[in-house]
Amino acid sequence: MADYDYDVLVIGSGPGGYVAAIRAAQLGLKTACAESRETLGGTCLNVGCIPSKALLNASELFHEAKSGALAKHGVKLGNVELDLPTMLADKDKAVTGLTGGIEYLFKKNKIDWLKAHATFKDAHTVEVAGKSVTAKNIIIATGSSVTPLPGVAVDNDKGIVVDSTGALSFKKVPGHLVVIGGGVIGLELGSVWQRLGAKVTVVEFLDQILPGMDGEVRKEAAKLFAKQGFEIKTSTKVTGVSVKGKKATVTVEPAAGGAVETIEADAVLVAIGRRPNTEGLGLDKIGLELNKRGQIETDHEFATKVPGIWAVGDVIPGPMLAHKSEDEGIAVAENIAGLTGLVNHDVIPSVVYTHPEIAGVGLTEEQAKERGEVKIGKFPMLANSRAKAIAETEGFVKIIADAASDKVLGVWIIAAPAGTMIAQAAQAMEFGATSEDIAYTCHAHPTHNEAVKEAAMAVQGKPIHI
Ligand code: FAD
Ligand code: NAD
Repeated sequence: MADYDYDVLVIGSGPGGYVAAIRAAQLGLKTACAESRETLGGTCLNVGCIPSKALLNASELFHEAKSGALAKHGVKLGNVELDLPTMLADKDKAVTGLTGGIEYLFKKNKIDWLKAHATFKDAHTVEVAGKSVTAKNIIIATGSSVTPLPGVAVDNDKGIVVDSTGALSFKKVPGHLVVIGGGVIGLELGSVWQRLGAKVTVVEFLDQILPGMDGEVRKEAAKLFAKQGFEIKTSTKVTGVSVKGKKATVTVEPAAGGAVETIEADAVLVAIGRRPNTEGLGLDKIGLELNKRGQIETDHEFATKVPGIWAVGDVIPGPMLAHKSEDEGIAVAENIAGLTGLVNHDVIPSVVYTHPEIAGVGLTEEQAKERGEVKIGKFPMLANSRAKAIAETEGFVKIIADAASDKVLGVWIIAAPAGTMIAQAAQAMEFGATSEDIAYTCHAHPTHNEAVKEAAMAVQGKPIHI
């Protein structure tokens, strides 16, 4: 048998890559991870999940204090001021702490960090910083980057036309922020700057925001964002952005064609999706082809068509989510070690961390109805005692069950803590629960999750509190 430098070499240290490396090392495999960024943790820890959630939290605190929202609880404040440099520094501190934490875990698990861009020479050899490194197994976990909008030049340093990375570090609150794309990034980062004082206009190509989510949830979310002051222009396409001095002019027209309109902005956020990172990897050297969407295809064990080459995370099909990448990272390492690593792609929760949060798992009502007859139970947060007690009553829980078997097919939630609430739905679905199983599970009182129980009871037409 050939001698290799490593049993496993992972390319990329995002949630897919670093988790795969740690599990491989835990299973006794000699492991290295190539990462070209200066810190470990990939998009998620450096410029994604973590800094965006730090800013979402801080901006929510500011907004609650500044808007007088706390006064209804009997908390009266004096003059409230924004200290943006401190808020940004606090966000950076969260990033540094977590990326440093991965470095510590790499040391603890004796994983070698190869600090450079990796390119394939052959199926068992990559070139990293001018050196050839060999491995019996190579996991591609190179993640994704922002999809560019043709004709719109992003310059994060200038801070006028930016992508999500630039929108995590505006040096001052833009007077008017135009967001191109009404998806997760546009609404989360739009919320941050709207709470800090910006007027936010979202331009969305489709006729509704939040593609991929349940139709009723998308409609309700649009209403809530409009109530918060967002201007949402759906069925509208951006045809160009020009910058003069410190201002941008965004040219838009109806998606179906029609009268051209211009919008003046102090900043423009391009958030129209992300695309897999495969450029410069040398995939031609190993004969690995991409699918039509530029992704690497794998089988259910995360093996590619090339023996010894595996792939996980944003670079393969499926939702571009950190937890999906992490679970695939664990599974691929276990498969390489000869165990059985599986991911149930039918049960991957997704959360939009706005206020209220929006979360879902499984099928939308539209998808479920395409497959057969369904029963639906809905319960408004307005009738949930905990939501009432804290005066956060927006949203609802919706459970979609198979009409014949009662098996839960999908759960959708809009509620202040929807991201936390959805975990119980994911676990129930993973265990193949029926709505009756959820309805007859004792839920603590008073909790937001009682609304999940009530929605399950509503599937049978027997909720108690409405
Ligand atoms: P990545 O995290 O993209 O990591 C890939 C790494 O590989 C990168 O560090 C890159 O430098 C490195 N790399 C690439 N090519 C090479 C090479 N040839 N050699 C060496 N290194 C290489 N998801 C959630 O689930 N929840 C959230 O709240 C959330 N918020 C987000 C907010 C924002 C603003 C963004 C942009 C994304 C967010 N995401 C969120 C998505 C999440 O970040 C991704 O799904 C996740 O990071 C994908 O993990 P990954 O390991 O596949 O790739
Ligand atoms: P997205 O796919 O969520 O949304 C992009 C939106 O842009 C879509 O609604 C699309 O119709 C619209 N669009 C596309 N082209 C357009 C155009 N020319 N003009 C106007 N609108 C246009 O993508 P995103 O918001 O950029 O996020 C990228 C990925 O990052 C997502 O897949 C998401 O899963 C992940 N992410 C997740 C979280 C989270 O889990 N909370 C947070 C941020 C990002």
